Amino acid sequence: MTKVKTYNKVLKKLSVDCEKCCGLCCVALYFSKSDGFPTDKAAGKPCINLMSDFCCCIHSKLIECKMKGCLAYDCFGAGQMVTQSIYHGSDWKSKSEISGQMFKVFLIVWQLHQMLWYLVEASSLVFDSGIKNDIDALIIENENITKLSPDEILNFDIDKYKSKVNNILRIVSKLISNPNSTRSSDKKTVDFIGKNLKKQNLDGRDLSMTLLIAANLEGCSLNGTNLLGADLRDANIKNTDLSKSIFLTQGQINSAIGNKNTILPSYLSLPISWN
Ligand code: SF4
Ligand code: SF4
Repeated sequence: MTKVKTYNKVLKKLSVDCEKCCGLCCVALYFSKSDGFPTDKAAGKPCINLMSDFCCCIHSKLIECKMKGCLAYDCFGAGQMVTQSIYHGSDWKSKSEISGQMFKVFLIVWQLHQMLWYLVEASSLVFDSGIKNDIDALIIENENITKLSPDEILNFDIDKYKSKVNNILRIVSKLISNPNSTRSSDKKTVDFIGKNLKKQNLDGRDLSMTLLIAANLEGCSLNGTNLLGADLRDANIKNTDLSKSIFLTQGQINSAIGNKNTILPSYLSLPISWN
């Protein structure tokens, strides 16, 4: 796919590499038991299962223990970027004086990397050179921010940047949606929770930010379907071809229910929990 060819290096950077991280998501984030995490936990407090070497003591049992939140989480490579590049291998435990700052930086880099993921895909979807240049400029800006010092990253106006990214993604979404197959009511109907959409033709539909929790999408046709930010938790995507769906992330896939017949875009992988 063009996405992979053009921005291969960037995509590599966005792949999670927990071995090069100091368990940042297991400490920095707030999480709750009801979302499939081990317990309710405040941001900045280590998970009860995080060991001194930053490995998870129940890693091999996450499926068995039904830790859906842990299984679905994807930091877009923010963990290793913060640990290795921004803090040069330091960690929040041995340098407790930097822990608070490190967690805040992680949260910003996580958002930046998520936006970078979408921008890379957006760049591969448009042909208008003006829009393409705008996207590429945002990608360069994004990469430059993560080369800054922790203090500079914290002072960066992330909301302003986010608004520019959202704006360009809106433009791209509009350009790529298929007017013949997009129902005018799509953007009003953002709730498909538990709906049975089995084998429906959803080609070219704009389902961005749609609630598809526990929806049945088995066998649906999803070519060019925009799934940006769609909530796919427990959605049935067994025997479904998503290889040409747009703006999909690994986190969305991890949170859905598929099988070995589910076909994903080449840059995403089948979760082990589906075996
Ligand atoms: S922050 Fe990312 S790299 Fe670090 S442990 Fe979590 S998922 Fe792995
Ligand atoms: S259970 Fe394991 S993966 Fe989940 S938050 Fe705790 S240490 Fe991290």
